[in-house]
Amino acid sequence: DAVNMADWQISEAAEENMPTPEDWVEKLGLEKDEMLPMGRLGKVDFLKIMNRLQDKPDGKYIEVTAITPTPLGEGKSTTSVGLMEGLGMRGKNVGGALRQPSGGPTMNVKGTAAGGGNSLLIPMTEFSLGLTGDINDIMNAHNLAMVALTSRMQHERNYTDEQLQRLSGMPRLDVDPTRVEMGWIIDFCAQALRNIIIGLGGRADGYTMQSKFAIAVSSELMAILAVATNLADLKEKINNITVAFSKTGKPITCGDLEVGNAMTAFMRNTINPTLMCTAEYQPCFVHAGPFANIAVGQSSIISDRIGLKLFDYHVTESGFAADIGFEKFWNVKCRNSGLKPHVSVLTSTIRALKMHGGGPKVVPGKEMPKEYKEENTGLVEKGVENMVHMINVIRKAGINPVVCVNRFYTDTDDEVAIVKKAAEAAGARCAESKHWEKGGEGALEFADAVVDACEEGNDFDFLYPLEMKLRDRVDVIAREVYGADGVDWQPEAEQKAKMLEEDPKYGDYTTMMVKTHLSLTHEPTRKGVPKGWRLPIRDVLIYSGAKFLCPCAGTISLMPGTGSNPAFRRIDVDTDSGKVTGLF
Ligand code: ADP
Repeated sequence: DAVNMADWQISEAAEENMPTPEDWVEKLGLEKDEMLPMGRLGKVDFLKIMNRLQDKPDGKYIEVTAITPTPLGEGKSTTSVGLMEGLGMRGKNVGGALRQPSGGPTMNVKGTAAGGGNSLLIPMTEFSLGLTGDINDIMNAHNLAMVALTSRMQHERNYTDEQLQRLSGMPRLDVDPTRVEMGWIIDFCAQALRNIIIGLGGRADGYTMQSKFAIAVSSELMAILAVATNLADLKEKINNITVAFSKTGKPITCGDLEVGNAMTAFMRNTINPTLMCTAEYQPCFVHAGPFANIAVGQSSIISDRIGLKLFDYHVTESGFAADIGFEKFWNVKCRNSGLKPHVSVLTSTIRALKMHGGGPKVVPGKEMPKEYKEENTGLVEKGVENMVHMINVIRKAGINPVVCVNRFYTDTDDEVAIVKKAAEAAGARCAESKHWEKGGEGALEFADAVVDACEEGNDFDFLYPLEMKLRDRVDVIAREVYGADGVDWQPEAEQKAKMLEEDPKYGDYTTMMVKTHLSLTHEPTRKGVPKGWRLPIRDVLIYSGAKFLCPCAGTISLMPGTGSNPAFRRIDVDTDSGKVTGLF
């Protein structure tokens, strides 16, 4: 009973019959050595599976996105899992791929994002607390690059050229301490580490300079994991990461620091996805990280490739709303993978539509205002414009989306009818779904709509050609996807953009926007579909490993902060059984 049970309790009950890694070998028809058991979970050896199944045709590729969310999330993960369960209930061979959560939100306000109610991924404890170690691997590899850089700077300061030659044979890199691009990472929301001074002490205590921490999942290594094709590709991309610039303006990479190979060694197992399942036991891979506002924010291309070979219906999620998550799925992930989605699901909730219609602020950790718990058709009527905008965004990719009204038990039939009418008037399919409350049983109408849409075919195409110049691309994204009147480049960002446009080295880089997910604009408080505004760009990050240029809009930070009522207060472990309680 989802209304009266916490998510961790639902997970615990479902875990009693959870398939073991050995069961999965049989269920999925894997060879024994394609499963790498780790405790009661396992990773799969993607290269072995891909080599064996390379000639098998792919299944249907289903992507799940959402309208502009409230800070609590609109149930994309819940809906992705619910769709797997609904398709499973209809007897389909279905599975999926989702991203691993970050310890930041898990310990802060939002919770673990394993889905919720009867549509969640199990086992929730492992999922929420590190899983099979991918984020730890990334932290080790990433911070090793910083160790390499900072020790190098210290030695170059302390030694003459001749001493350096004699001690290591490495040439002087001459790092410009004011142009260090990379910082350290930790997987918590640690605002106190946003801006720091390192290397205090004496000559043996490192190089004194300003430095910074970002949340681990925003690391370029996570971006690389999302788009890498194999271990060789991973190694090449890692070695190409720009860590800093020299005093003459030359990029200094992990390869120049001779640390990229050791970083790849830390990630040799990270490249294989972890296999989990829904509370109704449909298989689901977990790979790569969240945060589509500041990162790719979606599961890996590798896990989609395997899923498409193993399942007739493969469900995946692009992070946050269609303007930021789906736009990256469409123009970054699919461009890198060459895969084409069959259908896109637009998750909508009555509570988010009410917020867009002018409802009061939704504050995580605080009681929901009554407007969201009682019928208020006026707010829904006004708010549906955000959903219609997102339907039209997905249409620009050549796909007619299926709108899923992710139904909360407090929503009323009249409220849902308004959403259905608006979605259908905009030409989309629309189905309500009660997967949170009832699991697959509650998602049948929704699953049927997705199956129908998969048969329809589409004209999937990118928003812009790769040849388009950086500033023109950002202009197209701002106007066509966000609904802005144009883009304002701050002088330093514009200078950087011009340099990037002129250098042929960056010609085949994709554009990965960094923008808040809480508004179509760069300002989180502006809801609905704001008109008459321009998008300010303050910087362009260069991810030369992943081959991304990342224009940053507004003041968004790569290190979120922990709030005053964080989730860790409620998380505990039973000292007799070792069971974890309080996750949600
Ligand atoms: P997103 O993927 O959009 O960030 P999640 O799927 O993680 O959102 O869901 C956010 C939260 O909302 C979770 O705590 C989940 O249990 C809850 N939730 C989602 N759908 C429903 C629903 N239909 N009824 C009640 N709670 C829901």
